[in-house]
Amino acid sequence: MKRALIFLFALLLGIAAGLTWLRLRETDGPAIYNRVLMGTLWSIQLPSGNSAQSGEAASRAFREAARIESLMSEWKPDSPLSAVNAAAGRGLVRVPAELREILQRGIEYGRDSAGAFDITWLGMGNLWQLDADFAPPSPEAILQARSRVDYRKLRIEGNAAGLPEEGMAIGLGAIAKGYAVDRAASLLRESGVVDFLINAGGDVLASGERNGAPWNIGIRHPRGASDRLIAILGVSGAAVATSGDYERFRIVDGIRYHHIIDPRTGLPARGCQSVTVVAPTSEEADALATAIFVLGPENGLALAESRQGVECLLVDAQGKIRQTAGMEIIAERR
Ligand code: AMP
Ligand code: MG
Repeated sequence: MKRALIFLFALLLGIAAGLTWLRLRETDGPAIYNRVLMGTLWSIQLPSGNSAQSGEAASRAFREAARIESLMSEWKPDSPLSAVNAAAGRGLVRVPAELREILQRGIEYGRDSAGAFDITWLGMGNLWQLDADFAPPSPEAILQARSRVDYRKLRIEGNAAGLPEEGMAIGLGAIAKGYAVDRAASLLRESGVVDFLINAGGDVLASGERNGAPWNIGIRHPRGASDRLIAILGVSGAAVATSGDYERFRIVDGIRYHHIIDPRTGLPARGCQSVTVVAPTSEEADALATAIFVLGPENGLALAESRQGVECLLVDAQGKIRQTAGMEIIAERR
């Protein structure tokens, strides 16, 4: 009996200490919330205002990103996007408005980049899995696979969408994460959070300020150690995305095969090592970084120059850094 009382007392004491600790944690200090989503680590960073409410706001933002993932993932068999892919060659299927809209914008990025950006790239995705038993595909296999890639064939009619040929498939890996970051940012703002940085595995959105100054965003050296930077950008109220050939790759016989495919050759794009884009939205930064990577330095920088509020910093195939005229760098680390 006495023992039971002592145990109960200790338990209550433990609960009280736990509650006090939780309250103490609710300070006004900085906070970082992490979650694995869309196959990458997401973090939401707040310079101040750490509280139960900001934790709840971050959770809502993560839930929104998870919702978008279940809508737009080509890897989840039950996603509406997978339904479109499964029906390729057999007509249109009903598609939620939000997915139709991103497909439509995907088509527009295709048009704006003269086909360098192509959401139907997944028609040759089977050649470029880059897993442990990867072997470079034969020229015949590439030629055949290329015929399955053409965003202009994607039909969107009324509330339905579809691909006309069997074997065609859509993959939104170059744009959906950016869109999800924009949506997560909207939810944070709706919750009253003004100053924050979202980083979804390299897709970054900087809102407001960090202690009265722009957020600092380091740009990784494409060949150096992962903490070696080529530049630091000061960003406030804009998005930054980087596409690089070091993110997913295999080297076979001295040749680097990576995950950004040039639809015109059917091979990994060769013009750049990394492309960083600053843009008004994370979706635009994400899509343009991939598009510019495929276009290569000249045409890619011209595309960035042609768009309002867009700047670009890239490392070309020779390792040379090139940038748009308006690109502002606060520190160079070349
Ligand atoms: P990112 O990391 O944003 O550059 O996106 C790369 C991902 O986009 C790849 O892993 C593929 O899922 C997809 N992708 C590859 N090549 C293309 C392309 N030419 N156009 C659109 N998406 C692509
Ligand atoms: Mg992208």
